[in-house]
Amino acid sequence: MPDEELVSTKKCPHCQQWSSWRLQPTDRCEHCGQLLDPQGHSRAQEQAAAAQQKPTIRLLEVGPEDKGFTRFWKTMVRGGQLLFIALMGFFIWLVTAIAS
Ligand SMILES: [Zn+2]
Repeated sequence: MPDEELVSTKKCPHCQQWSSWRLQPTDRCEHCGQLLDPQGHSRAQEQAAAAQQKPTIRLLEVGPEDKGFTRFWKTMVRGGQLLFIALMGFFIWLVTAIAS
């Protein structure tokens, strides 16, 4: 069985010539060098930007092996983190509510 590369053809939206296309948003036309899928390209960039902007908050784990004072301060920090997440969610909701 031949090892076929996934290649398609797409009509270039810029010069109307058919160009080979590997189904990637970054592929460019063989004839004029423009992006074959400019919408897909901007969509991919938006997704990458959204993934970077997404805040990642790791909750502190309070394990069963934590005893006494360790358990106390971990619970306090965790409570603060949860409060922070709740406030962030509220502000995001508020901004969306005002914007719409
Ligand atoms: Zn072209």
